[in-house]
Amino acid sequence: MINIKTIYIAALLLGNVAVAQNKTGFKGQGPIRGVSTVSRPVLRQWKGIFLQKGDDVYFSNDFEGGRLNGMLKVNDTLYTALISPENVPINGSPWYAFKVWAAKEKNITISLTYLQGRHRYPAKISRDGLSWSSLETAGAKKYFELDSVPQNYEFKLKVGKDTTWVAAQELFTSKHVSGWVAELNHQPNTTALQIGTSTLGKPLTVLKIGNPASKKRILIYGRQHPPEVTGHYAMTAFVQTLISDAKLSKKFLKEYLVYIVPLMNPDGVDEGNWRHNTGGVDLNRDWDAFNQPESSAVRDFLKKEISDQGNKLVFAIDFHSTYDDIYYRVDPKLKSDNPDLISSWLRKTQEQIPGYVPNVKSLYSGGPTYTAFSYLFKQYGAESLVYEIGDKTPRDFIKHKGEVSANLLMDLLLK
Ligand SMILES: [Zn+2]
Repeated sequence: MINIKTIYIAALLLGNVAVAQNKTGFKGQGPIRGVSTVSRPVLRQWKGIFLQKGDDVYFSNDFEGGRLNGMLKVNDTLYTALISPENVPINGSPWYAFKVWAAKEKNITISLTYLQGRHRYPAKISRDGLSWSSLETAGAKKYFELDSVPQNYEFKLKVGKDTTWVAAQELFTSKHVSGWVAELNHQPNTTALQIGTSTLGKPLTVLKIGNPASKKRILIYGRQHPPEVTGHYAMTAFVQTLISDAKLSKKFLKEYLVYIVPLMNPDGVDEGNWRHNTGGVDLNRDWDAFNQPESSAVRDFLKKEISDQGNKLVFAIDFHSTYDDIYYRVDPKLKSDNPDLISSWLRKTQEQIPGYVPNVKSLYSGGPTYTAFSYLFKQYGAESLVYEIGDKTPRDFIKHKGEVSANLLMDLLLK
């Protein structure tokens, strides 16, 4: 157990880091443009063990979330891995994940070569696929100066008989998420239901937690984009706080019904995709045309639960990851039902986390709703936003901010 004092000191230190990050001026993404979301072919990986003749170092991508497209032994200690996306054009989130072992212990260098785009994620390693450490010290690189980052990325690794897992971020596949859902499903007033299937036949799951008789509903969802594991950490911290034994959480769940869609893109996650689903599409551009099964399933579910029954979707939050923590919101100039909610929430978050300054950007000002958060605002009048966590944001801080944010939101929604 970490004691409270440690958490407080960590929050202070990390808060200062966050201020420093904001000063580096992360601007977030530019205006969202519409793109076709009609299905396109994806290149599925060859799966198996990569072993070169006469060698005794083995690489495997044969597991959920794996991504390794080719391997070349350059000399006795240097191996070049090819990492390619599922299709193009694609956002620069070059996910990779593979296992490596050798007959005899030895030190090797692995060079990652990307078929498209630039290096983004410093390697994480694990001995069991569950607990991970980063090969790069946090903050060692300035990650906003993208042009200065090399396209090849090399790191040294000691390999031996025991398997080493190497991945862009910690592995959280549909299997891990199902385990988390099953645990939550033991809670009182909780139901897990399948609302559809992905193209590869994986279940799309919604958890309903709270008071089913309440007219007031909120939606928590995430992982439209496969590599965005830090967003997943934030989502779980947020949800665990909502369902805690604290008085505030109990009161909240008596007054609200909460929907949670923890994994919007199970195919993309399990296939080790960089960005897309099996339809080769960025799901977070499909909330106008609804060409894909995942976005359509959530749209249809909400119609049945909200519009058809005269309920109100009060609030919706979409968890993602990017280069640095940022919130994308609806332009406050647009008329909304509860106009001060998000501003008050972010102001209180800043007050509660010493030194932390939320970076906030308006990303929807009207017109077609390509993204989920803008669709939920336009369709339901929900206070709706995107909660982005940095790729390298310290995991303790993600958890702390998720807990603080959830408590403040419950407090505001009960007023
Ligand atoms: Zn994303």
